[in-house]
This record gives sequence, C-alpha cells and structure tokens, in this order.
Amino acid sequence: MNVNLLQLTPNAADFIGRCAGICYNSRQDSASNIRRAAACKDKGHLATLRFAHATFHVTGISRACSHQFVRSKHLDFLQQSQRYVNQKDVSFVWPDKVQQSLDVTKLERAFSDFYDYLIQQGIKKEDARFVLPEAACTELIVVGNLQAWLDFIHLRNTEHAQWEIRAVAKEIERQLHESIPEIF
Ligand SMILES: Cc1cc2nc3c(=O)[nH]c(=O)nc-3n(C[C@H](O)[C@H](O)[C@H](O)COP(=O)(O)OP(=O)(O)OC[C@H]3O[C@@H](n4cnc5c(N)ncnc54)[C@H](O)[C@@H]3O)c2cc1C
Repeated sequence: MNVNLLQLTPNAADFIGRCAGICYNSRQDSASNIRRAAACKDKGHLATLRFAHATFHVTGISRACSHQFVRSKHLDFLQQSQRYVNQKDVSFVWPDKVQQSLDVTKLERAFSDFYDYLIQQGIKKEDARFVLPEAACTELIVVGNLQAWLDFIHLRNTEHAQWEIRAVAKEIERQLHESIPEIF
C-alpha cells in the first residue's frame, strides 16, 4: 500500500481561518487565521473545513479495500479501470492469516492464468475481470474537503475498521497531520 498526498490547498489552515473570519468580522492576520481554524475544528464549526481540499494517490490496495473506501460519500474518486487496463500482471493483497494458510503464489498464478485464458479466447477485459478476486490490487486518486477527510479518518482509523483500510486512513491522517497539525 502506498499513499501519496498529491495536492493540498496552499496554507490551508490560514485560508480556512480567513474564510471563517468573515462570519465574526475578525482580524485577518495569518496567526489569528490559523488559531481561528483550529478553534472552529475544536468547537465543531466543521463547515469551515470545506473550504480547503486534499488529493491523495493511493496504490497497492485490494478491491475489497477500495470498495470500503468509495462508501465515503463526500470524497470523490478516480479508479483504475478493469474494463480498459489489462489485468494479467495485476498484484494481489492478502491478509496475513490467508498467506499463512495457503500458497498464495500458486493461487495468484491460477487467477492470472484464468484471466489470460479468457482474454486469449477473445473475451473482453470487462468480462474477463469477473474471475479476479477481491484481493486484486487497484489504484485510486481521491479528493475531498477537510471535513470529508476528518469523517473518513474518524470512521476508518479505528479498531472497528478492517486492517487494510485502517492502514490507509492512518497514513492519510499522518500526512495531513504533518501538513496541517492545527486541524489533524
Ligand atoms: C466498521 C464499519 C463497518 C461497516 N460495515 C458495513 C456493512 O456491513 N455493510 C455496509 O453496507 N456498509 C458497512 N460500512 C459502511 C458504512 O455503512 C458507510 O457506508 C460508510 O462508513 C460511510 O459512512 P457514512 O455513510 O456514515 O458517512 P459518509 O459517507 O462518510 O459521510 C460523512 C458524514 O456525512 C453525514 N451524512 C452522510 N450521509 C448522510 C445522510 N444521508 N443523511 C445525513 N447525514 C449524512 C454523516 O454525518 C456522515 O458521518 C461499514 C463501515 C464501518 C466503518
């Protein structure tokens, strides 16, 4: 799994605080803006966080994980297409317990061979993909405002979420914390 922050609204906390400032006719210097952005988050004035956006490139996650990811309605997604991209050399993500119980290399070869067999028979990629498991890797670009990212982290970086999406959420939170500690 790899998570890469592609783009973030420049000076996000400053900008959020500046936008929020018009509600209160407040001072507009950068330090006040950043303090105000943090206060808005703490007090639950979360609509202010919708004025800044972050875009992540996420690779090497399973289709099982991406299916959970896309349930977050306020994030927007572009996902690698299995209709247009040949999946013969697709990678797979396996839970530790599965790897310990099975020869996953053999399993992966079998899935790739089934898939390639269908392609060789003239079956379209969009139909051949039906023999691939949820373990097949995918790639996404995900954009959202900072309130949507807070919601996602709140839901998915917890012990109740599955290990894979939890790892994604944890890494997204880490990178956002690094860039905007006032909010994350
Ligand atoms: C541990 C866990 C287990 C899950 N198991 C299942 C499962 O078995 N089956 C399944 O189908 N899904 C499951 N999900 C997915 C879950 O049902 C949600 O689809 C997903 O987590 C997105 O959350 P959300 O819809 O609450 O809000 P999001 O889409 O993330 O939206 C963010 C926020 O917007 C607000 N919001 C969104 N939609 C509405 C609305 N219609 N009305 C009012 N406010 C709204 C809420 O405040 C929400 O928190 C699971 C999720 C988790 C975290």
